[in-house]
Amino acid sequence: MQCNVHGLSHVAAHWFPVNETFDSLQGEGGFTGTPALFIRMQGCDVGCPWCDTKHTWPRDEARLVSQGEVKAKTALAEGSWAWFDVEQLADVAHDSAARHIVITGGEPCQYDLRQLIGRLQKTGKRVQVETSGTYTPYVGRTAFLTVSPKYHMPGGRKVLERALERADEFKFPVGKRSDIETVLERLQPYSERHGTPIWLQPLSESRTATELCIEAAHRYGWRVSLQTHKFINIR
Ligand code: SF4
Repeated sequence: MQCNVHGLSHVAAHWFPVNETFDSLQGEGGFTGTPALFIRMQGCDVGCPWCDTKHTWPRDEARLVSQGEVKAKTALAEGSWAWFDVEQLADVAHDSAARHIVITGGEPCQYDLRQLIGRLQKTGKRVQVETSGTYTPYVGRTAFLTVSPKYHMPGGRKVLERALERADEFKFPVGKRSDIETVLERLQPYSERHGTPIWLQPLSESRTATELCIEAAHRYGWRVSLQTHKFINIR
């Protein structure tokens, strides 16, 4: 099998390591409540301590399974994955009733997504990509890009200005007051320049974090995003 995804993010990729594909509702940000097909890529080296998809971090060849097994996953959060090419993912899109597709991870922007996004859009569906902003987003011009910037994470990756410039929305996890300062210093200038909405996401929906988010949203004209899928116990 030709595999051009190993570190060659500038080369248009045809094959992608996929952890799971499933229909659900987008639970976060501006598309909250939208029925969506999720395509979860395998692989992430950012290392966020609170990550709720740690099973997507390693691309362990020992966990390689068939496409059927990946498509048949239910609520299992586990690290098996399969290679899919662009046409096979277009078939998955055709089979889904959802009109919105979310490419997530893991870190999907490790891979050049332009060809895949173009093909998925040809199925008549809108494509959203969720990224940490630590890779150049090769997503073309018409995909909706959600950037959730991850600063000073154990993986040591830096948030890239070109990702912040390209963002259609920002989503920022907030656990403490200094996180609000980070949003003010690092994201608000882009928001003011481009009108990019800023969504604050209280970590673990704790009382303290939620109150911080509400207070800041009032003060600065930002918004609060809750992980609504968790409230109704869906993927
Ligand atoms: S970037 Fe996303 S997938 Fe990667 S560690 Fe952070 S939260 Fe998890």
